[in-house]
Amino acid sequence: MDGKGFFIDLTRCTACRGCQVACKQWHNHPAEDTRNWGSFQNPPDLSYVTYKLVRMEEYVENGQVKDWLFFPDQCRHCIQPPCKMVGDMDDERAILQDFDTGAVLFTERTNNLFFDEILASCPYDIPRLDEATNLQGKCDMCFDRVINDKLPACVLVCPTGAMNFGDLDEMRQMADERLEVVKEEFPNAVLGDPNALRVIVLFHREPTRFHHAAVASLHGPGRFTRKQAFAKMFGNRKALI
Ligand code: SF4
Ligand code: SF4
Repeated sequence: MDGKGFFIDLTRCTACRGCQVACKQWHNHPAEDTRNWGSFQNPPDLSYVTYKLVRMEEYVENGQVKDWLFFPDQCRHCIQPPCKMVGDMDDERAILQDFDTGAVLFTERTNNLFFDEILASCPYDIPRLDEATNLQGKCDMCFDRVINDKLPACVLVCPTGAMNFGDLDEMRQMADERLEVVKEEFPNAVLGDPNALRVIVLFHREPTRFHHAAVASLHGPGRFTRKQAFAKMFGNRKALI
């Protein structure tokens, strides 16, 4: 079984932020203290209590704002997750990958891991730390909903069809079909890392325009920490002992 996946169609995102709010509600996460920092993007970044964030960037050409780009950011639930590869070297039960869905899940044992190493391992700049507890957090695919045959909260509330969820092979097919249509208007449209992730994003503009870590190659091409290299070679620190 290929497990589950998301398809995020950025051409359909209106930045209503329903997904961001629904995520907070389902996870019972509090709002954050923020201030005006010159952007409608609010809060400014992901955090331990903000798993989903609608990022906003202006598309500027020849000094003119041509478009406003919206990017609902979240964990991509990598098929071979580097965060787990590195985390397993310190505690194999801190980051889990569900066999049926493929969801990558951070547990209460993440306080046994080194946050800097986990963050550095993630090509999409996703994990965040709760400094009070030393726990790490990120999108959990609404795993408790999904195993009860419910959609993730962000997908359920999305009014435009930008957020989609289902069997991974169906999401891949939906993404391929939609890409063909979108290319008629946006010839540079691409899917972000579609074979490596369970969250397939259709970018109608160059991914670099949306966010520095929108696709893996943007956030440090070929970046491989020393610990990742060991994890890849030996699988587990215990194997070294
Ligand atoms: S996007 Fe980052 S946090 Fe999510 S599974 Fe991949 S490596 Fe882990
Ligand atoms: S709910 Fe849908 S349309 Fe609204 S911000 Fe999220 S992805 Fe975009």
